[in-house]
Amino acid sequence: MVVPPTNSAEIKRAIRKFDQDLRDAPEWKDWELKKNYKFALQYEGQSYPVKMILSLATGIDRNEFSGGKDAGHANSVVEDLGFKVIDLGHSRNPAWLRDELILALDLYLRHRDAPPGKTSKEVVELSKTLNELGMALGIRQDAKFRNANGVYMKMMNFRALDPQFTSEGKVGLQRGGRLDKEIWETFADNSHKCNEVAELIRSSIESGEANIPLDDDDADEDFEEAPEGKLITRLHRRRERSRKLVKKKAQVLNKFGRLKCEVCEFDFHIHYGDRGEGFIECHHTKPVTSLKPGAKTKLVDLSLLCANCHRMIHVRKPWLSIKELSDFLKLKTR
Ligand SMILES: [Zn+2]
Ligand SMILES: [Zn+2]
Repeated sequence: MVVPPTNSAEIKRAIRKFDQDLRDAPEWKDWELKKNYKFALQYEGQSYPVKMILSLATGIDRNEFSGGKDAGHANSVVEDLGFKVIDLGHSRNPAWLRDELILALDLYLRHRDAPPGKTSKEVVELSKTLNELGMALGIRQDAKFRNANGVYMKMMNFRALDPQFTSEGKVGLQRGGRLDKEIWETFADNSHKCNEVAELIRSSIESGEANIPLDDDDADEDFEEAPEGKLITRLHRRRERSRKLVKKKAQVLNKFGRLKCEVCEFDFHIHYGDRGEGFIECHHTKPVTSLKPGAKTKLVDLSLLCANCHRMIHVRKPWLSIKELSDFLKLKTR
């Protein structure tokens, strides 16, 4: 089936229609990740299924365009109209992480009334920071990763969510993904907190702490990422396994003569005999954002917990405090 004639205004209208009506529909949820879509039309930083857009633009059922040759034809139709088509299998940038979105939102919130442009110092700087962070977290793929254009588009995604902007009757450039919205809802009303987290991410990149390679325990899948993102989760976990743990155990043993979970009082030695002697996990109780890079871990900030209680603190967002977990257990056993 040959694609009927169309023009760029019709394509743009189809793009808008896709955003409005289809993007959130179950059929199109995460369509870019599905193997049967090989190409995407790129427009203002967002991806669109080429044949679906053509179908919306021309009114022809998209299944009419199926087949390898037709797919190539569909691509060339939109490319001839000046749109960019990318191969989803190769050049797709990884999805933005919480850490990255927090950095972008921080920049947006600091310049809410007049977001800096694509070539501004601020945007170029953030692009550089994101590349360093991407390297530290192992998600940076190539030179196109989080370039100034992508950073600017991400700020525009946030602007589209900003009631200060949309209430004036303006429509943002485009909508971003679900995580954009979650980050907006978590931090937009608390720009101070957003800035605090962003500062911490930046300083741990600068100090080099972000670059210390992961060991297996850092990647522990039972530990849900903190709302502040991957990097800060990693700093927290590393602190919990610091050598201070040995000292903490010695201190507690000295004082109480045994090691027991501070929440449920489970004692590995009593329960498992000699095998459990000296075993306990360690939890860092300070809020993640107060962990300044390079700062020494203090004994008073460490709590001793059994493996179950420790997992339950970290298994979902937000992480619980020791008191919250204790209160929950008390309520349950009453
Ligand atoms: Zn416990
Ligand atoms: Zn912990």
